[in-house]
Amino acid sequence: MPIYQKYSKINLISNIFLLKDGDKMEKIIIIGGGVSGIVSGISSKKSNNEVTILEKNNHPLKKLLITGNGKCNYFNKEFKIAHYYSNNCDELSKIITKENKNKILKFTTDIGIIPKIKNGYYYPASNQAYSVYNALLKEAQVKKVKIINDTIVTDIIKKQNQFIIKTNHREFIADKIVISTGSKAYPKTGSTGDGYTFAQKFSHNINAVYPALVQLTTCDKFIKELSGVRSEVEVTLTSDKIIKKETGEIQFTDYGLSGICIYNLSIPVNQLLSQKKHLKVKINFFHDFKINTIKELINELDKQNQNLKNRTITEILEGYLNYKIVNTILKISQIKPNISWTNISQDKKNTLAKNLISLSVNITGTKDFNNSQSCIGGISLKDINITTLESKKIKNMYFTGELLDVCGDCGGYNLGFAILSGLLVGEAIGDKND
Ligand SMILES: Cc1cc2nc3c(=O)[nH]c(=O)nc-3n(C[C@H](O)[C@H](O)[C@H](O)COP(=O)(O)OP(=O)(O)OC[C@H]3O[C@@H](n4cnc5c(N)ncnc54)[C@H](O)[C@@H]3O)c2cc1C
Repeated sequence: MPIYQKYSKINLISNIFLLKDGDKMEKIIIIGGGVSGIVSGISSKKSNNEVTILEKNNHPLKKLLITGNGKCNYFNKEFKIAHYYSNNCDELSKIITKENKNKILKFTTDIGIIPKIKNGYYYPASNQAYSVYNALLKEAQVKKVKIINDTIVTDIIKKQNQFIIKTNHREFIADKIVISTGSKAYPKTGSTGDGYTFAQKFSHNINAVYPALVQLTTCDKFIKELSGVRSEVEVTLTSDKIIKKETGEIQFTDYGLSGICIYNLSIPVNQLLSQKKHLKVKINFFHDFKINTIKELINELDKQNQNLKNRTITEILEGYLNYKIVNTILKISQIKPNISWTNISQDKKNTLAKNLISLSVNITGTKDFNNSQSCIGGISLKDINITTLESKKIKNMYFTGELLDVCGDCGGYNLGFAILSGLLVGEAIGDKND
């Protein structure tokens, strides 16, 4: 029986035809129409294959549209392994290379994304995620990649050399499949962790998945008094040693800490808490004034006290900081707000300076997947050929994007990885000479 007749019995999505005797149209199904799935589709398409993307939502790229607050920070000049986390960083470092950086940039400009680069952060020149959305979908259309929306993949069955993909309304058959279903982060965009179930079914190891790029929670009551305050700071995540340092704007909330610098600190938090580590974030409110030690701060306040006559400590500190920060830190340091700097004992000056350059906040956890921009953990890179992203366990099964055990810092690293993973799969599946 010719292949096309055999396929038509199980409800083919489009016509299958023979290119020449014995040369069948290879069918590739990509599960998930996020960035990594769409890029996989575009880069896998060649003249003698049929590429179809199955997307759960009523349109693809739902998450992309909300990235970077709708501006889509899609890449970063600092595309280096230091900005990525995985349980297998050695393996990951093989693909976070200069050569691959150039591939990502070539691909994005080739499909019409014109970059606007701010401090190394790449945005579309329009400042709108829609430009990236349109560029990707237009390229998919030009390449004749099919996208079928409202299609939830419920199961994958391997039968001899093919895959049967079960969905909410029909079955599909594929010679190769790419699983691009994303992680569990921000499930309202469609990424509900289905890919982990599919991968597990085929014996892939999943490293524990936790929310990352997310707000931190604390049990310290004084944080509530700071709720709503924003400040430019240096933050350091510590346990028994320094784990990670960041600078930027912190936002205090009634449950804890937020802001991009906090999101970046959050990546290892859940893993470390699961190992029963005691975590703290130390905040330096004087980093922007280039003051990093108790001595430097005491000298600064001495000088300021000499310059300004008849000022209370509150009045001096309010020259530098938000009044809520000043009130709270004086209270924690047990210093009366209306006392003058000269009347504060040396011990108290030391305590105050310590709290101003290294305020210690106990970390109890993070907000959940509904709030997280990414996940740490996922399909183990040990089970994947890192240069093709093909499974080592199941031939012709590929994985891309956030589903893998890869998490990047805020700043375009995650979309950068999603694009790269799609390109690598395309190189493996597609015809480079096409
Ligand atoms: C609020 C927010 C802001 C962000 N901002 C940035 C930023 O500025 N820069 C940056 O680099 N990164 C950012 N990220 C992270 C970035 O968006 C993701 O890393 C990236 O989109 C992951 O792409 P993906 O293709 O792996 O997965 P997703 O984009 O999650 O795509 C997975 C797709 O698979 C579909 N799917 C899932 N299960 C099934 C199923 N069973 N059947 C069919 N389809 C299915 C989903 O509906 C979804 O469309 C942000 C994330 C969030 C949540």
